[in-house]
Amino acid sequence: MSSHHTPSLQADESPSPKVMERLTQQLECLDTPEVVGWAFEQYAPHLVLASSFGAEDMVLLDMLARVWPSPRVFYLDTGLLYPQTLHLIDTVRAKYGIHPECVATPLSLEQQAQQYGDALWSRDPDQCCQIRKVEPLTRHLQGERAWMTGIRRDQTLARRQTPIVAYDTRFHLTKINPLVRWTDKDVFRYLVKQEVPYNPLHDEGYPSIGCLPCTKPVTPGEDPRSGRWSGQEKTECGLHL
Ligand code: SF4
Repeated sequence: MSSHHTPSLQADESPSPKVMERLTQQLECLDTPEVVGWAFEQYAPHLVLASSFGAEDMVLLDMLARVWPSPRVFYLDTGLLYPQTLHLIDTVRAKYGIHPECVATPLSLEQQAQQYGDALWSRDPDQCCQIRKVEPLTRHLQGERAWMTGIRRDQTLARRQTPIVAYDTRFHLTKINPLVRWTDKDVFRYLVKQEVPYNPLHDEGYPSIGCLPCTKPVTPGEDPRSGRWSGQEKTECGLHL
């Protein structure tokens, strides 16, 4: 672990852009487990892994569990997750002894239907994501110093410039994206080699898995994220703008 080459950040509300830029350059020279180890040393216990239990998140969970005996992992439970995803969460509990924290809106699906009408996701997915994902996430990240995500640069055009670390001005904490340089192949190579459990839907044509009504399988050769909010302009749930 070559963390002695990287600067140690103070519990700074908002590090200067210059400090962040230098840090980004230094972290780009480390390999991915070193980046994860650096994040742990720098920020734990005020570090949380945001997980949708997709393939990338499972890589990070596995890497984090190697350096941090009880990593803090949370997931956004919209009430519309696939049964396979919920089953994977049980598997994670059993295999790693980790208890992922469930983060959710107090608004039940029934209450949402009463207030906003049936199937809000099909009429105004931005508002649905705002209620069921963005607002609970915003509350959950308060008081933390850093969050870690499995974003990769080759997932979408908008993600192409994603830095390995940045100060997230939207949620007011550091955001660490250790897998930015990885490809889809790298992810699955790791999962298989390290025998990490993953969502069986990935083997059924779902590269990216979100909520039931907004996720479809994609055919080989199609844009891997085209199965999310298929047929709509939307490509992000508003967590990674
Ligand atoms: S992904 Fe779809 S169902 Fe899930 S919160 Fe967003 S709009 Fe609603």
